[in-house]
Amino acid sequence: MTKPSRRRFFAAGAGTLIGLPLLMRGLGLGAQKSTRTTDSISQESYEWKMATTWPPGFPVLGEGASYLAELIEHASGGRIRIKVYGAGELVPALGCFDAVRTGAIEMGSGASYYWAGKMPASQLFATVPFGMNAQQMTSWIISGGGYELWRELYAEVGLVPFLGGNTGVQMGGWFTKEINTIDDLKGLKMRMPGLGGKVLQKAGGTAVLLSGGEIYTGLERGIIDATEWIGPYHDYTMGFHEIAKYYYTPGWHEPGTAMEFFVNKEVYDALPMDLQSILEACCHQVHMWILSEFEAQNSHYLNLLLQEGVELRQFPEEVLDVLRVHATAVMDELTASDEASDRIYASYQDFHNRIRGWSRKTEGLYHSLLQESPEQAG
Ligand code: CA
Repeated sequence: MTKPSRRRFFAAGAGTLIGLPLLMRGLGLGAQKSTRTTDSISQESYEWKMATTWPPGFPVLGEGASYLAELIEHASGGRIRIKVYGAGELVPALGCFDAVRTGAIEMGSGASYYWAGKMPASQLFATVPFGMNAQQMTSWIISGGGYELWRELYAEVGLVPFLGGNTGVQMGGWFTKEINTIDDLKGLKMRMPGLGGKVLQKAGGTAVLLSGGEIYTGLERGIIDATEWIGPYHDYTMGFHEIAKYYYTPGWHEPGTAMEFFVNKEVYDALPMDLQSILEACCHQVHMWILSEFEAQNSHYLNLLLQEGVELRQFPEEVLDVLRVHATAVMDELTASDEASDRIYASYQDFHNRIRGWSRKTEGLYHSLLQESPEQAG
């Protein structure tokens, strides 16, 4: 499977023993492994249960959880076998946090903003309105100190988190009327959870909480005027385009939402070191697969939606400028009310302030100057 040339490269690198401790420190893993070695590989095997927040077989995210279980089983030679449960099959969707924390089951799959009610700071490891995109978020977590803060926060509740995918920039949502000025958001009833919903409220809108299964009917019956969901692939399967005419971009409220896998900390700490490494490596493979899958599917389904007559609109800059000011106020309120959020958001912002200049001068310019097709460029 691995090309011989690459295998040789890694074998040569491992022989130096210089890079590895640095890498492990970067991932926040070095400290807790001192007593474990791979001198004699334990043949002990483990049967785990993973509960997810996703409906059974949910495209990309549910599939990613199943893919992870398969990868870990193969990579560990069958020493870890994980049975994956969709939302409601073992515990309710949001019940997996407590089920894993208490040790009732070993592993969960979700997004850290689902636990904001229990740990407000957790949502900073998912997404922040007008915050970092997928590439920047991954960089902060793996190389910018995010993992250390995330592990520290989750250790307090008995969990170990791993990056488990990213949606990329989400879409701004489906609207039954055009949004031309900030006043068009006043009185607007929109399904928008989390920090984005708080920003919408500040702009005079009403954030309505509806679960995935309730959105279509809510939109159809006028309980809501608008909804956000994820991106073209998932939105298409939900059929929102049958009801709402205008599809807005970009998803300022979720510019790159990170997903997570989490393991009970006692269970993780008791694993032999090779299995701990396999677990992390497989989570990161699935992280990359999920982001890649979102990008590939969303680009295909956006074209499909456009072919079916959906009107794609861009939020006016004036609207985004006002929302950005409200987002700053929402983040100020969060950090003023919670010490952990204050500390973690300082790291997030510091990294974002640094990397956004780099991104703008490279990726940003590349996209604006060189990424357009010849037809679009005209
Ligand atoms: Ca969303």
